[in-house]
Amino acid sequence: MRLQLQLETIPVWDGVKENSECFICSLMKKAEEDGVRYYLSSAVMTPEVRVEMNRHGFCPHHSAMLAEGGKPQSLALAMDTYYEENKRIFTPLIEKIQGAGNARKAEKAAEALFEAAHSREKGCLICSRMEERLLRYCYTVASLWRDDQDFRKALNESKGFCLHHTEALIKTAKEALSGDDFDGFIKDMAVLLQKNLDRVQHDDWWMTQKYKSENKDKPWNGAEDAQKRAVYKLIGEGRVLDPVRK
Ligand SMILES: [Zn+2]
Ligand SMILES: [Zn+2]
Repeated sequence: MRLQLQLETIPVWDGVKENSECFICSLMKKAEEDGVRYYLSSAVMTPEVRVEMNRHGFCPHHSAMLAEGGKPQSLALAMDTYYEENKRIFTPLIEKIQGAGNARKAEKAAEALFEAAHSREKGCLICSRMEERLLRYCYTVASLWRDDQDFRKALNESKGFCLHHTEALIKTAKEALSGDDFDGFIKDMAVLLQKNLDRVQHDDWWMTQKYKSENKDKPWNGAEDAQKRAVYKLIGEGRVLDPVRK
């Protein structure tokens, strides 16, 4: 065992009981909201947080969430210092474009500017905070699966996880479980995945049938949102996109 992480027993047990398509998705959507709230809170007044924000910033997805977060004062403050740092990096590059002797040189100088802009977009503090929680949740699932038979039973009878988070669970389980336990966990996850991908596909298929006139009066059997569940069962929600790599 290489990693020793704090267990998140309560949210994980609550998650398995919620009987959704993937409770890691639910926990990660919450983690995302918490991350956005944190970077729009009074935390942005503290110098250490501002230094971090100026250095790393946020991915486009989370920048947009901050913009729509309804906290103009905090965001204005953060953006003002972020622009200052941008100016330090971008101004010489923009001036180089203006001073370029011909189109070819101007184009090259513009490329350098946009390369700098892309590297400025890389690494996201909200994604990083989310990744920490994702690790703890996945680690907890694997640990409870090993130590708590009631949990294992509830998990195996649940709707399982999305394909995206199944990968995270198996990768993280390697840190929590060894030998036969790791093998057993991977196989349980594979059974759960297959069973529940089939279930979701069946619901989706039933939706296609419900659009036929002869089935108009037959019951939906819970397939009213099957087309959406079919999408999210694969891609997941609350995805960690681009954490800061230190
Ligand atoms: Zn998921
Ligand atoms: Zn992000």
